[in-house]
Amino acid sequence: MAIDATLPYDPGNIFAKILRGEIPCKRVYEDEWALAFHDIAPQAPVHVLVIPKGEYVAWDDFSARASAEEIAGFVRAVGHVARELGLVEPGYRLLANLGGDGGQEVPHLHVHLFGGRPLGRMIS
Ligand code: 5GP
Repeated sequence: MAIDATLPYDPGNIFAKILRGEIPCKRVYEDEWALAFHDIAPQAPVHVLVIPKGEYVAWDDFSARASAEEIAGFVRAVGHVARELGLVEPGYRLLANLGGDGGQEVPHLHVHLFGGRPLGRMIS
């Protein structure tokens, strides 16, 4: 079920549990700022989720509250993962859902990284 992105951060959410190591994930990359792992229900040959280590529900609170260091670290991690996966050529797609209309289901900010096949025009 889609979430309300204006609610306070819930440390019991599934990605918080993955960050704490309470639930396993297929890890792709980790550094001080971010963790990247394969989506449990991939929508493309490559479907990786990149999440910041800080407690942010969605893009809205991340963009408003995160430090410049955190934002830079997270953005750099997303780019690094895409390069490491060899996706820059032929290309890939980044997607961040926010709240009910955005269809966000997990209340910890995550960027979807899709690749490995032609993805067509923007999905709605
Ligand atoms: P959202 O709709 O919130 O943008 O996307 C949430 C994504 O998290 C979905 O693509 C879903 O398949 C993925 N997901 C949900 N639970 C888990 C989990 O426990 N492990 C992993 N690896 N992915 C999950």
